Amino acid sequence: MKIHIIGGGLAGSEAAWQIVRQGIPVVLHEMRPIKMTAAHQTGNLAELVCSNSLKSMADDSAPGELKREMLALDSLIIKAALEAKVPAGQALAVNRELFSEAIARSLNKSGLFTRLDEEVTTVPTEEELLAKNEVWIIATGPLTAEALASRVMELAGGTKRLQFYDAIAPVIDAESIDMSKGFIADRWQKGDDGGDYLNLPMNETEYNAFIDAVIGAEKMPLHEFEEVKYFESCLPIEVMIERGRETIRFGPMKPVGLTDPRTGRWPHANVQLRMENIEGSMFSMVGFQTKMKWPEQRRVFALIPGLENAEYLRFGSVHRNTYIKSPDSLEADLSFKTNRRVFLAGQITGVEGYTESAAIGLVASRNALAKLRGTEYSNPPPESMLGALVNYVTVGPLGDYSPMNANFGLLPVVAKVRGKGKKDRQAEKVAKAWQAFDQWFNKNRVFTQ
Ligand SMILES: Cc1cc2nc3c(=O)[nH]c(=O)nc-3n(C[C@H](O)[C@H](O)[C@H](O)COP(=O)(O)OP(=O)(O)OC[C@H]3O[C@@H](n4cnc5c(N)ncnc54)[C@H](O)[C@@H]3O)c2cc1C
Repeated sequence: MKIHIIGGGLAGSEAAWQIVRQGIPVVLHEMRPIKMTAAHQTGNLAELVCSNSLKSMADDSAPGELKREMLALDSLIIKAALEAKVPAGQALAVNRELFSEAIARSLNKSGLFTRLDEEVTTVPTEEELLAKNEVWIIATGPLTAEALASRVMELAGGTKRLQFYDAIAPVIDAESIDMSKGFIADRWQKGDDGGDYLNLPMNETEYNAFIDAVIGAEKMPLHEFEEVKYFESCLPIEVMIERGRETIRFGPMKPVGLTDPRTGRWPHANVQLRMENIEGSMFSMVGFQTKMKWPEQRRVFALIPGLENAEYLRFGSVHRNTYIKSPDSLEADLSFKTNRRVFLAGQITGVEGYTESAAIGLVASRNALAKLRGTEYSNPPPESMLGALVNYVTVGPLGDYSPMNANFGLLPVVAKVRGKGKKDRQAEKVAKAWQAFDQWFNKNRVFTQ
């Protein structure tokens, strides 16, 4: 009886800890330093490839709540980060060497942990794993080596289910949008009988100012290995604008078929926002994937009427990122529909960020343990931050699936009450998330200890 983990990054290391602390042996296969990825620099476990920050620890923030729930489940990643902490205000920033060392030390001390430095290229069948009483967790991250990426694609159900790039459009907190500047309508539908899109119309002057701002904005440099291979259907807006000032008016800013009820006419240009969740608390900017730097996105998109004070739950981005369309390919316990003894964890499931990746590693490993022991798995409830993230991965948004970080928009909506502001509602969301988590934790005490 043992569990194999492929990939010793944030998710794989967290998963390994959750399993050894339950007394089950782990074999972790990590290809570094024998074979490096294009971004990693060392052979260390849980190497932080870029920033050394695991985001906010603040009690009233979404990333803070995620960490609190993970800590309750004895998360090694969060414990090691606290041990290797460096001063960074409310953020949990770490000395990356000490962070990796703390993780390796805890795993080695367990006596149940074996690390093999090797690239994995194949995955056993469900029957083979059953015969050996083994379970696998694949946690090979955004830069999964090619051969295994092909196996993951097969497990996920084909080429359409694996992405090598993400081209992400911004997601906005609905409360921060000035809805009075827009109108609800689908294309070619009369504006007054409902529709699924919030349209933000622009006149010619506004449009030209916007185009100039995009052209002048600072963009994220692509890493050397991120050879640009855009799909025509999801070009970044600045690439469209490079092709001509009018190009985007024939793409995501197309006004045709959208009659503004206030003028009875089609606007010069139009930005469409689509609900990301059924509660309508998050809206994504349709077709607005972009490489503009985050502060530039805030500045430039503020020129769109209605978005002057927009608050971004997720900024747009374009980068190399291997991930699958998890809601179509994974069961609720994070195992593949095509092989119930192989689980997927980390960024490759479609979450974004160090802590989020570790969080999915944590939940996947608990569910993998349940599979090995033949017991029922239990995901944290979707009202908790950890559960909301797992729910996003397994159920997905209303629109296209794209990578997501921990944010308030994933939590159930809290009703507006006179005299209470946004901060109060966020505090209430956090309190409710913790309450739901705590109830689940206590109900599953045998398992959560
Ligand atoms: C260039 C770049 C910059 C980033 N910057 C940030 C940032 O600043 N902040 C942030 O929160 N997130 C950042 N991310 C996202 C970051 O990668 C994830 O947040 C996090 O590292 C994902 O954790 P993971 O465990 O899923 O994958 P990883 O941490 O990447 O771990 C996957 C591991 O699997 C190994 N592996 C791959 N294929 C195989 C194989 N076939 N056999 C054996 N081992 C294999 C890899 O060597 C790696 O160690 C960045 C990503 C990239 C690519």
